Amino acid sequence: MLPLLSLSLDELTAWVQTQDQPAYRGKQLHQWLYQKGARSLLDITVFPKAWREKLADYPIGRSTIADCRIAPDETRKYLLTLADGLIIETVGIPTEKRLTVCVSSQVGCPMACDFCATGKGGYTRNLAPHEIVDQVLTVQQDFGRRVSHVVYMGMGEPLLNLKAVVRSLQQLNQDVGIGGRSLTVSTVGVPRRIKELAEHHLQITFAVSLHAADQTLREQLIPTAKNYPIPKLLEDCRYYVKTTKRRLTFEYILLAGVNDRPEQAQALAKQLKGFQAHVNLIPYNPITDADYRRPQIKQIKQFSDILHKHHIENSIRYSRGLEANAACGQLRTQQAATNPAVQTPDPLPSLRKINQPS
Ligand code: SAH
Repeated sequence: MLPLLSLSLDELTAWVQTQDQPAYRGKQLHQWLYQKGARSLLDITVFPKAWREKLADYPIGRSTIADCRIAPDETRKYLLTLADGLIIETVGIPTEKRLTVCVSSQVGCPMACDFCATGKGGYTRNLAPHEIVDQVLTVQQDFGRRVSHVVYMGMGEPLLNLKAVVRSLQQLNQDVGIGGRSLTVSTVGVPRRIKELAEHHLQITFAVSLHAADQTLREQLIPTAKNYPIPKLLEDCRYYVKTTKRRLTFEYILLAGVNDRPEQAQALAKQLKGFQAHVNLIPYNPITDADYRRPQIKQIKQFSDILHKHHIENSIRYSRGLEANAACGQLRTQQAATNPAVQTPDPLPSLRKINQPS
C-alpha cells in the first residue's frame, strides 16, 4: 500500500473513487496533503466523519519530529523518525526572503568522503520519494511559512537514489509548488548517472562536488572517485549543460594545506576553462572524526581571487547552522545522532533545544 504522499492529483482522484467517494474529494485530499500538511485523514475536516474515522490509520507517509535544535542564526536541525523507526536529519535555513530546506536522500551514505560526517557513519537505505517530500512539508509547518528553496545536500548521495530523487523533484515542483530552479541536487559524481539525470531535462539547479582538480588528491578525499576520473566527470558535466541548457555549479570544499594553495586554484581554473559554471567555495566545517582545518580567511580570499582572475565565476559560501552541527557535512547517521555513547556535546551553551511532540 503506497502512502498517500506518493500520489499525484490524478492518482489521488482515482484513489478516492475506489473508496466510493466523488472525484472532487481527490482535489481536496491533494490540497490537504501537500498544502495544509495533513498528518492523518482524521485531520481533513472537509471529509465525511464516518469515512475519516474508517481510514484514520491509513498511511499518509509523514515522519515525526524526534528532536529539533535551533542554532543562534535560527537554522533548525531536525531528527525525523521514519515509519520503520530509522532516523534522518533535515535542516531548515531561514533568511528574510527565503526558507531553504536541506533534505536527505538516503539514511546514511555509502560514499565515505573523508571530510564528511555522514560518510563516517555508513549507509542504511535509500529514501522513498514521499520521505523526501515529507521533509519539506515538515520544515514548512514547523516554521509556519512557505519553503522557497530545497537543496539535496543532507545525508546521502542523491544520484545513488536517482529514481526516487527525480520523482520527489517532480512532486516538489508540481504538488508542493516549488519552482524548478529553486530545487538543487548536489552530487559527488556517480558514473553514468549524471547523463541519466540530464535525460530527464529537469529545470533544476545541478551542483557537482569537485573538491580537487587533481585526480590523486580527489581520490584521497573521495574514495569513490577512483571509478570516475576527473576528465570523464567533466565530460559528463558538459553533456549535462548541453542537454539541459542549464548552467552548472561546482562545489569546492576548502581544506587548509590540502587543496587551498594558489597553484591548486590555478589548476582548478585550468580544468574549468570555458565551462558554463559557477564555483561555490565552501570553507570546511569541522567534524569530530577528521583532522582537517578550515583555511584562514586570507587564503580563502586569495583562492577566490585567483579564480576570478582566470574568469571563473565563484563565491565563498559559509554554511549556516554550524553551532547546531547542522552545516554542510555535519549530518550524521542514525546511530551517531541518537546513540548517546557517540554523541558529541553541544558546542555552544547558547544552543536552544526543543523537543516537540509530533
Ligand atoms: N552527496 C552529495 C550531497 C551531500 S553533501 C555531495 O557530496 O554533493 C553537500 C555538500 O557539503 C557537498 O559539496 C559536500 O562535499 C559538502 N561537505 C561535506 N562535508 C563537509 C564539511 N565537513 N564541511 C563543508 N562542506 C562539506
